Amino acid sequence: MSARLRDFAIAFGRLLDTHPKESRILEEGGALLRGLVVRDDWLPDAFAKPHPERYQQYLLHLDAAGRFSVVSFVWGPGQATPVHDHTVWGLIGMLRGAEYSQAYRERDGQLMAEGAPVRLEPGHVEAVSPTVGDVHRVRNAYDDRVSISIHVYGADIGKVQRHTYPPGGGRKPFVSGYSRSQPSLPI
Ligand code: FE
Repeated sequence: MSARLRDFAIAFGRLLDTHPKESRILEEGGALLRGLVVRDDWLPDAFAKPHPERYQQYLLHLDAAGRFSVVSFVWGPGQATPVHDHTVWGLIGMLRGAEYSQAYRERDGQLMAEGAPVRLEPGHVEAVSPTVGDVHRVRNAYDDRVSISIHVYGADIGKVQRHTYPPGGGRKPFVSGYSRSQPSLPI
């Protein structure tokens, strides 16, 4: 693990040691994440590798007590998530390239886009949670290059039971798992 990522994980763990309420996690944890993504010189290539068909989510760090996980999201050109929720708090920090996040809200039992999509540029941080808005769809802002964001969630997010929201309505159970990183072969 790079020193910058290790220092971030230690600082985030110390924040959670104080049993903060969610608003403090999003604010102070968001500031920690901004400090991590403001420089793009620490993410190992094995966790920055796009896949030609689908976006990748590599587990960078899992808190020993399972209180939080840190994931790199790697978008190939034009790739996007389905509309989905998280069920726990999450922080999204843009590291490289750019992405659009479109929020959705339920109105009269129908899921509707809420406002314009938010464009995240390197160093920007956004939050999701059942309190501040939990349903969105994210896509690479670029059709011709890779974008990468670093996500922190209040659980081992790859194992969390959550949902996608198909275009036809309703919701489907969803567990994201993690992508398998491919470390360089030993020589
Ligand atoms: Fe998300």
